[in-house]
Amino acid sequence: MISKEHIIKRFTSYVTIDTQSDPNSDTTPSTKKQWDLANKLAEELKAIGMQDVTIDDNAYIMATLPSNVSYNVPTIGFISHFDTSPDFTGANVKPQIIENYHGGDIVLNKEENIILSPDYFEDLKQYIGQTLITTDGTTLLGADDKAGICEIISAMEYLINHPEIKHGKIRVGFTPDEEIGRGAHKFDVEKFAADWAYTMDGSQIGELEYENFNAASAVVTIKGKIVHPGYAKGKMINSMYIATEFINSLPRIETPEHTEEYQGFFHLHTINGDVEQTKLQYIIRDHDKGHFEARKEVMQKLTNELNSQYEREVITTEIKDQYYNMREKIEPVMHIVDIAEEAMKQLNIEPLIKAIRGGTDGSQLSYMGLPCPNIFAGGHNFHGRYEYVPVESMIKATEVICKIAELTALKEKTT
Ligand SMILES: [Zn+2]
Repeated sequence: MISKEHIIKRFTSYVTIDTQSDPNSDTTPSTKKQWDLANKLAEELKAIGMQDVTIDDNAYIMATLPSNVSYNVPTIGFISHFDTSPDFTGANVKPQIIENYHGGDIVLNKEENIILSPDYFEDLKQYIGQTLITTDGTTLLGADDKAGICEIISAMEYLINHPEIKHGKIRVGFTPDEEIGRGAHKFDVEKFAADWAYTMDGSQIGELEYENFNAASAVVTIKGKIVHPGYAKGKMINSMYIATEFINSLPRIETPEHTEEYQGFFHLHTINGDVEQTKLQYIIRDHDKGHFEARKEVMQKLTNELNSQYEREVITTEIKDQYYNMREKIEPVMHIVDIAEEAMKQLNIEPLIKAIRGGTDGSQLSYMGLPCPNIFAGGHNFHGRYEYVPVESMIKATEVICKIAELTALKEKTT
């Protein structure tokens, strides 16, 4: 139904525009260059026949595909982000098209000997015979999340060209700065006015996600006392030793490198210290709200214990919540996940429903009043030079969008 050439052409036109975001910037979008693609996308949405195309001062884009049925159908939305990760350069992306993938090593860059190999990236093996889009080994690709944008626009175009497919009102939203955790921040949920939405921002074909971590950050500051080491007896307090006590008092196996699936963790990611002061920076993650709260309490309790042991306030711990598990907001409207699952099954895609070990824009949007599970966009190995996307997965994702629209209208008619 949707041609490979068409998808490749559209996707390539997006990834060749550098849209890397910048966590050290306070503006929205965080980088000026994101406007280059944002403006192009707004024009393209108009060109394919979308209505009410708007782009606001922060580069958030919204558009409408009007309903083509006479009865009432819920308004659904599809969302992706056009920035790419600050982790790896997104300038001068030169996508390579590997047709009929043979299942072996792909030489991304001959001169620098950069190879995309199924020995290391086993997922490649499921795409034998398909068309892969890779990098030239020197940049990321940007399938995260320009694949999502390509799929949403292609689906809207398809629905416009095939009015025999009945659907309700569909809203489209493209955001800047997702990669620096700000994609949802200035998203105007009221203006978007959808009953629910899906982010097209997952990885491999079949992914469907409605659970993510509850997340907090913790900054532990330990105050010591510096004295001449030769005359320090009974006087010096070495903040670094107290810091190691703190670190060692937390369970060593509840860390990212020892946990998976639904297991939460404490993650110490930064230490800065001298005798006078040591700062520990942690993130706390847990899918379970109760366990999440308990983890925060453990840190606070440990802080209090060490303070009473040293008979002064040597430690202060500042914990800040970052985001929450969207499951709480999705469970009351579980049919929105069911529709996506059914859409995949009807398209012979095996749904892979699993909990995200991270956050998504959808989790923030869900708490802002727009329930928003996440669907695969098809890419792999995000944020680096080994990123790739099978064109067949992008076509399937496009079909999933169309099918969700169709099923939503159908269900409403029969109930
Ligand atoms: Zn993404």
